[in-house]
Amino acid sequence: MKTIKHVSEMVEISKNYAGKSVGFVPTMGALHAGHLSLVKEARKHNDIVVVSIFVNPAQFGLREDFGAYPRVLDKDQALLDRENVDYIFAPESSEMYPEGFSTSIHVANLTDYLCGYYRPGHFDGVALVVNKLLNMVKPTRAYFGQKDAQQFRMLKRMVGDLNMSVEMIEMPIVREPDGLALSSRNMYLSSEERKVAPMLHQAIKYTVDQIKSGRRDAYKIKREAINKLRVYPEIKVQYFEIVDEEKLIPISKITSKVIVAAAIYLGKTRLIDNEIVDV
Ligand code: AMP
Repeated sequence: MKTIKHVSEMVEISKNYAGKSVGFVPTMGALHAGHLSLVKEARKHNDIVVVSIFVNPAQFGLREDFGAYPRVLDKDQALLDRENVDYIFAPESSEMYPEGFSTSIHVANLTDYLCGYYRPGHFDGVALVVNKLLNMVKPTRAYFGQKDAQQFRMLKRMVGDLNMSVEMIEMPIVREPDGLALSSRNMYLSSEERKVAPMLHQAIKYTVDQIKSGRRDAYKIKREAINKLRVYPEIKVQYFEIVDEEKLIPISKITSKVIVAAAIYLGKTRLIDNEIVDV
């Protein structure tokens, strides 16, 4: 396994894959079993596996946790070595966004609701960095988690709209035994916050079960789920939505495949989670 620090080196390597298939997993590091599930899948189906580790300043808002975001490259390298990864690409910000950098990317519509509404500019930053990484790494397939379902759908749209030739693959959410979705941000939680954190998934599961049992009134089910979360004073609900699975627009009557998606704050820590339900 080789760690590549320079953009020029990554570009040189990607010119010489010699017809081999390349699986790519973009991450911000502080890797956990969720990230590793993507890496394992990439390893299974490709000759070469590249994992990027880059805490992308362009996708953090001014009051968000860019400075505090965990950076543990040594530990990440050890984990990826065990998964037989070929290349870690860990560029510096100054090389990704050199002086004079002027380009932006915006994927409309799919970013109007959910996290896109509450984190203005966030998905522009994600689209930009993933576009750049795909240009540098030139993978056959790229792997993402359903944990960031809106992100995946936006990126898939971008790849289609811009005729980029990469296969986009979405993998299921890896969870703790109590249902909490694994996240690099879980390490911010105090022990008290950690205790109530699984309620996010409980509320989503409640919603999914209601839909599966035949209810179709999105607004009422949503209110019930939010009320379940309100029982815990530590939890501040940012949004709890039932959206169309393709358009990502909130719906009032459930008639097709939907995503139940929510974001909460526990103290300063923002957690997201979702489930996809087909009716
Ligand atoms: P991040 O490092 O947070 O940018 O995440 C990198 C990739 O890992 C994204 O495609 C995420 O959706 C995915 N990911 C994060 N958490 C999980 C999880 N619990 N299960 C599956 N994939 C995940």
